[in-house]
Amino acid sequence: MKIGIIGYGNLGRGVEIAVNAAPDMELAAVFTRRDPKSVSIISKDVPVVNVSEVADWKDKIDVMVICGGSATDLPVQTPEYAKLFNVIDSFDTHARIPEHFANVDKAAKESGHVGLISCGWDPGLFSLNRVYANAILPDGKDYTFWGKGVSQGHSDAVRRIEGVKNAKQYTIPVEAALEAVRNGENPELTTRDKHTREVFVVAKEGADKALIEKQIKEMPNYFDEYNTTVHFIDEDEFNKNHSGMAHGGFVFRSGRTGVNKENNHIIEYSLKLDSNPEFTTSVLVAYARAVKRMYDEGQRGCKTVLDVPPTYLSEKSDEELRNHLL
Ligand code: NDP
Repeated sequence: MKIGIIGYGNLGRGVEIAVNAAPDMELAAVFTRRDPKSVSIISKDVPVVNVSEVADWKDKIDVMVICGGSATDLPVQTPEYAKLFNVIDSFDTHARIPEHFANVDKAAKESGHVGLISCGWDPGLFSLNRVYANAILPDGKDYTFWGKGVSQGHSDAVRRIEGVKNAKQYTIPVEAALEAVRNGENPELTTRDKHTREVFVVAKEGADKALIEKQIKEMPNYFDEYNTTVHFIDEDEFNKNHSGMAHGGFVFRSGRTGVNKENNHIIEYSLKLDSNPEFTTSVLVAYARAVKRMYDEGQRGCKTVLDVPPTYLSEKSDEELRNHLL
């Protein structure tokens, strides 16, 4: 299978690592909007090409992994490149998934390709677990907790405050809330009950730290509904202790069965990730394999992880999977 990458940020690099580790895949080329000479990739023998030349690669790539940002890149890039290639992306703006699905579906159907969107862990593996668990336990409640991990969106929002030189924001699940769910108490939890936020800030010289802290804690949508702790640290400590991209989270379904609903069942799925981008791209690359299989068997249009049979993710045969993993 020949794989292409469009956009070389954290995910682009992660896809390169995952493709190099896959026995049935080969990286054909990396495409960027920047000057290709300014983008240095890991593989020495793979071309880096400006995205303006992507049409020349139309018949040389089985699946293109689109690695742009969800906010402004993917809504444009995924439908655009679905005109030329089978594509897959990690679009994670949950509220806009129906609109993105419709745009990719139209482009992929018109050009005769498969486009799989919103793949990764959330949306992605977490979504799959929610669907399985809701089907199995229709009378129940869903809970999702994120962290402990770095939220890029919240870190960016803090960096935009005047006087802030650098910042990292960690989302942390509240242990008592996790325990209540695990114990089958089926609690009603507000936003504040489920997560706390911790921010590490490097302030510019002479900046008003009290004002920065106030602006963080009162920021609408990002921090105002949470209990937030702010720490001011120096640049050395920031670089030493806060340069990682760890993340993770939990998806629960707590549901009842029985004539009098006397039995409670809890499904818990959790992820603990040292590197959010490397894990996300490991998911993307497994699903890229499925995209090619779906295309080869004649499927067309937009898909999500919910449409993919599990056997399509593996490079092993169905028989091997039945014998060893069933
Ligand atoms: P990055 O900001 O690292 O990269 C996004 C784009 O920015 C790249 O495609 C690249 O495009 C450009 N870029 C990257 N580095 C530079 C640079 N040094 N200078 C100029 N441009 C640069 O984003 P991530 O890869 O971390 O994440 C992409 C998206 O993945 C996120 O927006 C997030 O929504 C989504 N995601 C989804 C997950 C899920 O579970 N579904 C999990 C994690 C992330 P180009 O090469 O063309 O310049």
